[in-house]
Amino acid sequence: MERRPLELYIHIPFCVRKCAYCDFLSGPATDLEMRVYVEQLVQEISVQSAFYEGYGVTSIFLGGGTPSILEAEDISRIMEAVYGHFHVEKDVEVTIEANPGTVSLEKLQIYRASGINRISIGLQSADDGELKALGRIHSYDGFLKTYERVRQAGFTNVNIDLMSALPGQTLESWRSTLRKVLMLRPEHISAYSLIIEEGTPFFKAYHDHPELLPDEDTEREMYYETKSMLHKQGFERYEISNYAKPGYECRHNIGYWTGIEYLGLGLGASSYIQGFRFHNESDLSLYDKIQMTGTDADEKLHQEITKLSDKEKMEEFMFLGLRMIKGVSGSEFFQRFGQNMWNVYGNVLNKLKDEGLIIVDMPDVRLSDYGIDVSNYVLSEFLLD
Ligand code: SF4
Repeated sequence: MERRPLELYIHIPFCVRKCAYCDFLSGPATDLEMRVYVEQLVQEISVQSAFYEGYGVTSIFLGGGTPSILEAEDISRIMEAVYGHFHVEKDVEVTIEANPGTVSLEKLQIYRASGINRISIGLQSADDGELKALGRIHSYDGFLKTYERVRQAGFTNVNIDLMSALPGQTLESWRSTLRKVLMLRPEHISAYSLIIEEGTPFFKAYHDHPELLPDEDTEREMYYETKSMLHKQGFERYEISNYAKPGYECRHNIGYWTGIEYLGLGLGASSYIQGFRFHNESDLSLYDKIQMTGTDADEKLHQEITKLSDKEKMEEFMFLGLRMIKGVSGSEFFQRFGQNMWNVYGNVLNKLKDEGLIIVDMPDVRLSDYGIDVSNYVLSEFLLD
């Protein structure tokens, strides 16, 4: 039986403490709150799986928050629930986000035994001063210990998350972070720029004082350095902010960017199923109280259900697909929408081509290096009136 591919995202909304720049749905919690949440999540997995019988799970991503803050047995229970209730494909990619200071060797061994085959470690910077400014709980040394344990436990697919444009960061300190990380030979590196989000302590400190952050030129230099240093070590940039050794691209994220259906499980998690977008209840005390087997469970659990119009689907296809360095395929556009991409977007595509922002290889298009630099502008051009 041919199964539809499905990605699962499982949200663990707990962290040791809140970082100063973070606006994710996450925060500290008591042991009891975490226990109650895991029970509820396992219930949700079992109940929701009934709607996905024709699907095969191709990737699972345990994200947060800090999923590794849970006891290893809790992670095993969650994984058992997934394997017990969903059809999981044999070559599934299973990632867990782990933060330094929250993982022992024993925990990592239990992760492996429960089917997890990829670890994503949140380092952000190898400079202890920068880590402190971010409000991270770990030092670079703490990260090194975690990384060593991850390898010792036998993980052969490891991502390291990095962040540039930090307060006090210089081009030289960014280079030093990249050098240190490259010496460790991870398989994958995500390198995002800091975004100052409203409602965070960083917003108060830096929104009106951008002069305290690296300026735009320095930020751009950091991006060029990233690409060039990583390229020399055999990493390919396959998405605007993601680099991998060949064969280690994150399949889960590629799924998001290429329109594979995904089901979000847990607090506030977003889903995209059969053209509908929705997200779970995002208030922890309300989520925990939902009677998952109740007749009105879905109504309480799933919020803001919206059916995407064809126009919205085309927009997403373009601005998510163009995040990938290989760009978007004209024939795939036709297959999905029954329309020629150049009939729908011809004016925009020709304009962007004349501006040197995209490269055309008829009928396909991808961002140029310059287009990647100003990707926010380029991608916004694909909104249809
Ligand atoms: S560890 Fe990650 S999710 Fe948790 S507060 Fe810090 S940035 Fe946010």
